[in-house]
Amino acid sequence: MRPHQIGAIAVDKVIEFEFWFDPSEAFPDYDVEVARTHRDWLAPDFFDFAQMKIRSSVHSYILRTSKYCVLVDTCVGNDRDRVQPMWHRQNRNYLENLARAGLKPEAVDFVMCTHLHGDHVGWNTRLEGGRWVPTFPNARYIFSKADYDYFNAARPGDRHYPPMADAVRPIVEAGQASIVGNDFAVDDELAIYPTPGHTPGHYCVHLTSAGKQAMLTGDLMHHPIQVNRPDWSSRFCYDPEHARRTRTRFIDDHADRDVVIFAAHFPGPTAGRIVGTERGTIFRVTGP
Ligand SMILES: [Zn+2]
Repeated sequence: MRPHQIGAIAVDKVIEFEFWFDPSEAFPDYDVEVARTHRDWLAPDFFDFAQMKIRSSVHSYILRTSKYCVLVDTCVGNDRDRVQPMWHRQNRNYLENLARAGLKPEAVDFVMCTHLHGDHVGWNTRLEGGRWVPTFPNARYIFSKADYDYFNAARPGDRHYPPMADAVRPIVEAGQASIVGNDFAVDDELAIYPTPGHTPGHYCVHLTSAGKQAMLTGDLMHHPIQVNRPDWSSRFCYDPEHARRTRTRFIDDHADRDVVIFAAHFPGPTAGRIVGTERGTIFRVTGP
């Protein structure tokens, strides 16, 4: 996408990969009638009605403020031993894609992981001479304390253990991690906005610049259909009930407001707004 402008902040997206899946695999409460009712805005970008499959994306956002270069969520990464077949021993061109977006790893000032699942921390590190080293040598990496404490307790054999071992702990050991509470802000343009439930310390990234606002929502929602059905939690949510309450409140608070939403897994044109209609809230694409 071309960079999207939020006041003085440019927002760019770098895709690692996209894929299709059956919505009932992700959402236990999935109801096909809801998809049919909202076909006019779900198709073709978000939902393939020929296959009845959902499109999904794994990507990062690059934020360029007047002071800082920030990378939000770092996808799955290469060379990882993972229990998820799609993530196992990937060999993708992510760093080349970053370079195409004009980003050198040394230029990143902050890496913000909305949460510590394996598809949001992977490129924190890369394999060099058999060791996992920080991919972004000059960055502070921002991890929420609640997530760090929870995932750091994972033991070998737990599916949350490998990403901690090869993508989070090496950052802590390199002295580049800031493990932060709910009130953390980089400056007056960039702050975290706590949205626990998907994970214990999940956060959104709140941008405010020149009177404009945006929210990078991480995995608060996995697919635009949840803008209409915020009560549908995913199977990947740590506490589905808590995730449901947090998501519902977020949708209520941001409907019909001038806040641009950039989600971590919405495919295609990810910039949009939450809009109230007679059919409930929907996601209206607003940008590239
Ligand atoms: Zn995710």
